[in-house]
Amino acid sequence: MTGAGYVNGSERIRSSADTAPWLSGMRRVCFVSHMPTLSGRARLAGILGWPVAHSRSPRLHGFWLERHRIDGAYVPLAVPPEQLGLGVRGLLACGFRGCNVTLPHKEAAYALCDTLTESARRVHAVNTLLFQDGRIHGNSTDGAGFIANLRSHEVNPAAGPALLIGAGGAARDIAAALLDEGAKVSVTNRTPERAEALARLLPGLALVAWSDREAALADQALLVNATSAGMADRPPLEIALSRAPSSLVVADIVYVPLVTPLLAAARAQGLATIGGLGMLLHQAVEGFAAWFGIVPAVDRELFEFVAQDLVPPKAD
Ligand code: NAP
Repeated sequence: MTGAGYVNGSERIRSSADTAPWLSGMRRVCFVSHMPTLSGRARLAGILGWPVAHSRSPRLHGFWLERHRIDGAYVPLAVPPEQLGLGVRGLLACGFRGCNVTLPHKEAAYALCDTLTESARRVHAVNTLLFQDGRIHGNSTDGAGFIANLRSHEVNPAAGPALLIGAGGAARDIAAALLDEGAKVSVTNRTPERAEALARLLPGLALVAWSDREAALADQALLVNATSAGMADRPPLEIALSRAPSSLVVADIVYVPLVTPLLAAARAQGLATIGGLGMLLHQAVEGFAAWFGIVPAVDRELFEFVAQDLVPPKAD
């Protein structure tokens, strides 16, 4: 970090009188500098969403920028849907290296790309854009992030059959990534037509009827909640785990709260669990590396830094 408020990488408390002698005699005001100083060559990236205030990506990328003392910034970019094209082309024109794309823009941003990775093409959506030579390159990193998170918990994605619940954007990418790993994968969704559409999109993906989801658990090694059920302020996923084998690993991609009702129920039954925050951290690695030139580590320190922001404040 090159900011004047940092000495040998650690934050130091400064007094305004250090830098503003004209303040001497006035009340000395202490402050902590959190702002790095950017040069004219600073690399820029950010996240486009509508709304975007809930996003933890600025915190996550900010941690890596600070850890690696990078002359760069990652900023929240609230852009309404009707301005998305203008917003993306504006970033490109302003020299941004690229950006993340979150709801509701993932599919509309796909249509703006000049080139696409295989994972983006398959799911018809992007969450990561790289700007290079005036062109927009689109990628979808959720599936790879999910797989990396499994591996970080020493779970082999191909070890056994997986039941995926959900058929939205995230489920599509995760199903494709699990199939790529050679796993046997089934999908079930509250709205069956969406699961059927997903099975048509991804050859090899089996269908389980919504009403059979609990019975189907008996044959699984991995259960994945890829729905938004269980998010804070939303109803929990409706599924009883009584027929789950004791070897079942239960993964949830929801990360607010960190421990969803599904994960809590699985833990109460002695099952191994994997939360969604690790996936968020891992899916960010590719974008950061492309924009800022360093492959960042996903480790405990990062996890705790981002998790701190997800824990509700204690009531007095
Ligand atoms: P989406 O495209 O809107 O899909 C939502 C899915 O959730 C649909 O399959 C929907 O079923 C299902 N659903 C919603 N409420 C339900 C309920 N009460 N019971 C059963 N199913 C329900 O959303 P998405 O982009 O795929 O995201 C899904 C979740 O994953 C969100 O919570 C998102 O924050 C999270 N996510 C996490 C990460 C990460 O890095 N950890 C990355 C991406 C997304 P219907 O088709 O029946 O409506």
